[in-house]
Amino acid sequence: MRPLPCDLCGATTFARFWRGRDRDKLLTYLICTGCSMASMNPRPSAEELASFYRSDYRRERGIGDPWRTDSVSRHLISERQRAIQVIHLLQPYLSRGLSVLEIGCGTGFLLASLRDQYDAVVEGIEPDEHYAAYARDQRNVNVVASTVENFIPQKQYDLIVMVEVLEHLSSARRALLTMRGFLRTGGLLYVQVPDPYTHRTVALAHTHVFIEETLANMLIACGFSPVRVNTHKDAASSMPPYLLSGLARAGGQASPVAAPSYRRVLLKRRLTRAPVASLEALYAVRGRILMILRALLGRRVYEMLRKLYWGRLPSSEAPNTSPRPRDR
Ligand SMILES: [Zn+2]
Repeated sequence: MRPLPCDLCGATTFARFWRGRDRDKLLTYLICTGCSMASMNPRPSAEELASFYRSDYRRERGIGDPWRTDSVSRHLISERQRAIQVIHLLQPYLSRGLSVLEIGCGTGFLLASLRDQYDAVVEGIEPDEHYAAYARDQRNVNVVASTVENFIPQKQYDLIVMVEVLEHLSSARRALLTMRGFLRTGGLLYVQVPDPYTHRTVALAHTHVFIEETLANMLIACGFSPVRVNTHKDAASSMPPYLLSGLARAGGQASPVAAPSYRRVLLKRRLTRAPVASLEALYAVRGRILMILRALLGRRVYEMLRKLYWGRLPSSEAPNTSPRPRDR
């Protein structure tokens, strides 16, 4: 099958970025030799993705149905932490009464927070019908079960937020051009994606792989002027900074930035990704490591260590290391 043209520059000359299996599907990622934009290629069409996200995606990730208490509490913890982080990052740009649209809003935690803290007039789009219903019923947020491509806005917004959604779409360019039309001129767009130098990135649901330069250039190509594009930590995770976010204004004139050559991108990923992958592997077996530590040190020393470490280690009374729900 012939690869799709580069979503950023339209070229058709690629090098291999990654190839492997994720959940029994063979995935191929190519990197454009001209602009260093990497994407799953070939990748599913917008229609195929829409059907996947309508019902399967949240469940495949183990998030499950929103009314199942165990899964919802887990999901809510990370949604809450992300919302706090996004509001913190956007704080200098937030004023009272903004109209806000969030794309892929999950259970609507961020939107409800913006409404409660800033009197924002909020709306959301969420492809999963159960999550959209949860946001409407539990948070009283106006959420439409739709994809960005099928959404018909009734007005232009001051702010659009898209947290870890852009890397899931069939064409990031088409989605950003569509969103440009949803924003008033001078309105703000906040997008957050994984940073491929530290994040695994390549996974069944991820269709695009952005680095700072290609994210900036994609925003510019779609009619935005970047305010800032940078990497940062995920508030919901103990892992090193593996998020990349872009804040941009609709309109204005910005010149494209020079991207590193695709060879440098591949080399940098090889050098930076491996140490994080080892940390992730350690993190995955941390429960077992803690059990061994407890057996070796005895309960008293272990409890002392636990207090020093912000109480984040599990108590020796309750050896369960799974996250405890802090939010309903
Ligand atoms: Zn390209």
